[in-house]
Parts: sequence; C-alpha cells; structure tokens
Amino acid sequence: MEIKSANFVISNTDVKKCPDPDRHEYAFIGRSNVGKSSLINMLTNYSKLAKTSSSPGKTQLINHFLINDEWYLVDLPGYGYARTSKSQRGQFSSMIKNYILKRESMVCLFVLIDSRHDPLKIDLDFMEWLGENGVPFVMVFTKADKLTTTERMNCIAKYQEKMKDTWESMPMAFITSAETKLGRVELLSYISELNRL
Ligand code: GDP
Repeated sequence: MEIKSANFVISNTDVKKCPDPDRHEYAFIGRSNVGKSSLINMLTNYSKLAKTSSSPGKTQLINHFLINDEWYLVDLPGYGYARTSKSQRGQFSSMIKNYILKRESMVCLFVLIDSRHDPLKIDLDFMEWLGENGVPFVMVFTKADKLTTTERMNCIAKYQEKMKDTWESMPMAFITSAETKLGRVELLSYISELNRL
C-alpha cells in the first residue's frame, strides 16, 4: 500500500468521543518506550505524525489519524510505565480496555513488543486478556535493527515457549525496525488485505 496522505483527526480520552465508526481502523499499542511513535511515523512516512516521546507514559490519549482518506490508524496510550501514578494507570487501562472491547470498527490491534527484551509478564498478560476477550491482534516486534538474525529467531522462540500453554498457535508476528524500515511493506500489505475484507 502506498501512503498518499496521513492526517491527524482527533485526540481524546473517551471511546464515546472517537470519530464515527464508519471506517476500518487499526490500533497500535505497547509498553511505553516500545517504539510505537517511531513505528507509526515509519509506516506513514511522516516523521512527526506521532510524537516520539521524550517523557514516556505522558500521552494517555486515543489518537486518530486518517490514512489515504480511507482508514484510521489509532495510536493508543502506552501501558505499564512505572513512573505513572497508580490511579493514572487504572484510568488509562480502563480507557484502553473500553476502546478495545467497544470499538466495533477496530479490525486489528497491533501489539508492539520490544524485541531486545525477554518476554515480559505485562505483555504476556495483556495478550492473554486479548485472547480471552476474542480481540483480533497480531504481535509486532520492534527495534529489530538492534538484533542479529539469530537473536531475532531466538526472540520469537522465547515467546513461543512462553505462550505454548495458553495458545493453540502463536498469533501472527511481524519483525520491524523504525530505523531500517524493516517490516513496513509487510505490515502495510497486511492492512491492505484486511481492508479488502
Ligand atoms: P514510544 O514511547 O513507544 O512511542 O517510543 P518511541 O517511538 O518514542 O521510541 C522510544 C525510543 O526507542 C526512542 O529513543 C527511539 O529512538 C527508540 N527507537 C524506536 N524505534 C526504534 C527502532 O526501530 N530501532 C532503534 N534502534 N531504536 C528505536
């Protein structure tokens, strides 16, 4: 898919105030600092569409961007940043949960995972919750430029090992880098495919 236009539409804290659910939308989520803004900017070819955060965990907003006048890309708040206060964490997790469970036009959730770390409980728990609730999602490993090919394979193998008891099969996974644009064509093709359904 060629990105012809990418425009910011609205930020808000409430799923009820999101744009009318009359287009397909694809939402991006992950732990703070996972590289979500960088990935969104890389996918859309706009260097400043999503702000790359100097202060992680601060933007607790649902951000809608209209892509090619056709579909929405949604930037969801990062989860699990230690420096956010507990009450704030509760607040944004219920906002995230509301969005994920109630947004009928969301076709697929892209769960970003930092490929440099061993599987983290917070990410595994979050994906388990998605599975329990029947939310369609894929995994997106970020910052793969930091790893060798063998390390990338090991990273996926570690997730497979951790997830094998909960999941019949691993969810689909993409390996990406905002630095090298690795995975860009694959992710956009996947969205194109879903858009055609
Ligand atoms: P966010 O908080 O999830 O939106 O993360 P950001 O996009 O702001 O990125 C967090 C940090 O990781 C920044 O210092 C980025 O420069 C760095 N980063 C993001 N993506 C990549 C990547 O693909 N490769 C490398 N090497 N660093 C990245």
